[in-house]
Amino acid sequence: MTDAGHGDSNAPVRGFSFLPRLPGFSPLSLGGPVLVGLLCLIVARLGFETYAPYGADAAFGIAVGAAAVVAMAQSLILAARPPLVEPLFGGLDHMYRVHKWLGISAMVLMILHQQIEPDFDRVVRETSLGELGEEAGELAFNALLALVAVSWFRRLPFIGLEIPYQIWRFSHRFMGALFAIVLFHQFFVDMPAGVDPTFKVVLNAFGIAGVVAWILTEWVAPRLRRREYAVTGITQTGDTTTLTLCPQGRAMRWRPGQFAFLRAPEAGLSEPHPFTIASAPRPDGALTFCVRALGGWTRSLPHKLRTGMRVQIEGPYGRFDFRKGGARQIWLAGGIGITPFLAWAQSLTEAEQRDIHLVHCVRTQEEAIGTETLRAAAARNPRFSFQVVVTARDGRLTADRLISAAPFAVSQADLWFCGPTGLKDGILKGLQAQGQTPRRVRFEHFEFA
Ligand SMILES: Cc1cc2nc3c(=O)[nH]c(=O)nc-3n(C[C@H](O)[C@H](O)[C@H](O)COP(=O)(O)OP(=O)(O)OC[C@H]3O[C@@H](n4cnc5c(N)ncnc54)[C@H](O)[C@@H]3O)c2cc1C
Repeated sequence: MTDAGHGDSNAPVRGFSFLPRLPGFSPLSLGGPVLVGLLCLIVARLGFETYAPYGADAAFGIAVGAAAVVAMAQSLILAARPPLVEPLFGGLDHMYRVHKWLGISAMVLMILHQQIEPDFDRVVRETSLGELGEEAGELAFNALLALVAVSWFRRLPFIGLEIPYQIWRFSHRFMGALFAIVLFHQFFVDMPAGVDPTFKVVLNAFGIAGVVAWILTEWVAPRLRRREYAVTGITQTGDTTTLTLCPQGRAMRWRPGQFAFLRAPEAGLSEPHPFTIASAPRPDGALTFCVRALGGWTRSLPHKLRTGMRVQIEGPYGRFDFRKGGARQIWLAGGIGITPFLAWAQSLTEAEQRDIHLVHCVRTQEEAIGTETLRAAAARNPRFSFQVVVTARDGRLTADRLISAAPFAVSQADLWFCGPTGLKDGILKGLQAQGQTPRRVRFEHFEFA
């Protein structure tokens, strides 16, 4: 292990240790998933009760259809990245996962609705608009089924085939348009008159909210939320490009550990991509991104972007914040997963009272970006220490090595992780086997899956 910097060590103390049942979700961030689930159930129940006089089958068919509409509407609302509800989910990455599962649940519920199609033929007079509403429902159902299947199976298991992100994203854009057709079906399909209108009002409100959210996501929010920055520095280390950006106008305010979407239309890179801000906030609003070449967009970035070019930033997002953690912390980074820790390390002052040990695992020395930032943080604060594990030279990091290198008992510390899932799972398994399970585990996903 190389490039180590150490501060004071602390005597280990015994205490209660646990792993959260839902990794990545804190008890508080379960509020969002519980809320969206409850809303689906409440509206489904309202639908069931409203149509119960027409028989259990009809009422159940309506209930599952209603739950599908509410799930889909909420999925579209979450896709609009509403900043106010992000805390309920514990960050945008978790919010996107709930968005995905709402979409999948909506699909399953729609299939059920189609199978138990409520039959009101004997009590309603068919109208041509109602028939059109029914046909619209069929059309939207089949198209949504195809789109959700594409989204769900973006990465085909076992054969490793992946639909390119751009194609997937393009197909995803039509979800809202198809949902608007579902809304048409909901508005005009022939239904018995004389029932309590509350259910219809509530369901229509969800439907309209979903369509409005989609319009906001696609056309309004991108223009309102973007801020202009200029590229003031580009450096290359191996396959990682470090960009320094300066605000041209109102600067974005962020907390260390947050991320933002970057697009560079001037360089022909118009699609926004998420990157963690790898620097702590500065008075001049300048910020740094470290971008690893992992695909088409990121590979072409260093060739297309030049100093002086304008880029656009949307954010900040995310709730990865070590200040929410305990007095002893292990920060574990794999490869480019170092970026949130670089921002945290840069934000550490001499007054920081937490004991922190950072381990950065990289395959080659070239991948070890930000070592200067880590050295400076260790020099500023003796409670911060770090080490870089270069796998090609030092071998893989094991739980044993982590335990012996940490200046305090790992079982007494919180573990903050950003990197490949395999590294996290391997280390956690090893720590558990050694009776050194960390008090809490928090991690950032570099993927919205
Ligand atoms: C919260 C978060 C923080 C991140 N921070 C960093 C960072 O600091 N440094 C870094 O190098 N990488 C970071 N990433 C990963 C980075 O966003 C992807 O590597 C990059 O978008 C890949 O784009 P590509 O077209 O080059 O690769 P592709 O091969 O096209 O994509 C690889 C994978 O990246 C994801 N992806 C691609 N395009 C997008 C997009 N527009 N929006 C969202 N996901 C997309 C998809 O899952 C895709 O399968 C972060 C990702 C997330 C979600």
